[in-house]
Amino acid sequence: MAQDIQIYNTKTKAIEKFVPITEGEVSIYSCGPTVYYYPHLGNMRPYVFADTLRRMFISAGYKVNHVINITDVGHLTGDNDGDADTGEDKMEKGSAREGKSAWDVAKFYMEDFFECLDLLNIPRAEYQFPRATDYIEEQINLIKLLEDKGFTYVISDGVYFDTSKFPKYAEFAHLDIEGLRSGARVEANEEKRNITDFALWKFSPKDQQRQMEWDSPWGKGFPGWHIECSAMSKKLLGPHFDIHTGGIDHIPVHHTNEIAQSECANGVKYVNYWMHVNFLNDKDGKMSKSKGDFLRLQSLQEIGISPLEYKYYLLTSHYRAQMDLDITAIHSAGTAYKKLWNFCVENITSDGEVNTKYKREFTDALYDDVGTPAAIAIMWNLTKDTDIKNEDKYRTIIEMSHILGLKLHMAVKEEVVLTDEVKKLLDERHAVREAKNWPEADRLRDKITELGFEVKDTDEGQEVKEIKRI
Ligand code: AMP
Ligand code: ZN
Repeated sequence: MAQDIQIYNTKTKAIEKFVPITEGEVSIYSCGPTVYYYPHLGNMRPYVFADTLRRMFISAGYKVNHVINITDVGHLTGDNDGDADTGEDKMEKGSAREGKSAWDVAKFYMEDFFECLDLLNIPRAEYQFPRATDYIEEQINLIKLLEDKGFTYVISDGVYFDTSKFPKYAEFAHLDIEGLRSGARVEANEEKRNITDFALWKFSPKDQQRQMEWDSPWGKGFPGWHIECSAMSKKLLGPHFDIHTGGIDHIPVHHTNEIAQSECANGVKYVNYWMHVNFLNDKDGKMSKSKGDFLRLQSLQEIGISPLEYKYYLLTSHYRAQMDLDITAIHSAGTAYKKLWNFCVENITSDGEVNTKYKREFTDALYDDVGTPAAIAIMWNLTKDTDIKNEDKYRTIIEMSHILGLKLHMAVKEEVVLTDEVKKLLDERHAVREAKNWPEADRLRDKITELGFEVKDTDEGQEVKEIKRI
């Protein structure tokens, strides 16, 4: 019998058994990056989660249809302060910063995002990546549908959704509308009928030519940020699908608005399960692109931490738990990951069988709301279990690694090719060790390390390994 999968649903605030809309299939939409700058380490957390979710369903025998959108228009800077309808378009901001067109900025950072996915072993070929600017017609059609049904009104800067016409508006995020109203900033748009109303279509400013703008039945302009996800998910997954994911910052505005638009336009329930990933915080709180001084995967590589070690670090925390950007902790996670890697190098075999008891414990842990920390703990228990043959441990760990996307099957013995310089230093070190000149032996070891080789002293003499970035 197939194992049950339990997931936490933000909507009901409860762990629920996953029941697909279509037997054996799961449709997932994950809110994707705004491609106006490099993704930081925190930005990558939701995609590592989304990919783990996909892998989890595949391991349970599901066919997965997964969409991650690319936001390349309409996400305004005001969103950083919780107001998604004000400020500059982040793409135009990127364009001004770099002296390139908004289109070139989008292309550049989209490619960088894809490279980050590659580094984290998130296989692009398994996803659809729709770009908002390729779905303008679908967005306009959805707004027209909302207009025909009486959910919209037009004011001087755009077409807005009237949230008072969707009585369930506050339900999803448990919003305190009265509190929002009294706490509203004075400069908030006074033409809006309700504090929570949001832009579906924004008009291009009269005095300024935007780089990204389109004709519409309401005038030249561009889509609001929320409508893209409703329009693209409808087109690619249908008006009602299984799972929607994103960061927790999306709950009160972006996802609340997506639900309002989609359910009012389509007349059916939008999504069955909502899953939200907690933040990675730096010392000043949530790491964010707008703060500028953030770390990215490549910054970790510069200090010797590989993207897969960072991925392992992320998986050692539950996705609903807040994480701190703690370089010491990332280093420790990297050391643990290397140990698993070395275990695989030392025990590589094509024989061996998957241990069904451990595999079952592992999937039970994972299927309990994507319980990656517990699943990883079971991997470690397996390595330490003296009742199990090493070849069976190896096979089982490789199977677990495939499910988590940790790439341990790439751990193979490699022949060390020494350069003449390293050979000479090793000979010198051998001589000074014979003479018991330990400080000099240590100095030479450091020199060899600098050249990319690790030296261990064993009973048989010096053992040399190339230091590899995994
Ligand atoms: P953006 O590219 O800014 O639209 O964000 C892409 C994704 O990263 C969204 O799902 C955000 O919720 C998420 N995100 C942004 N900052 C963080 C952070 N510090 N930690 C975890 N996730 C984040
Ligand atoms: Zn979205």
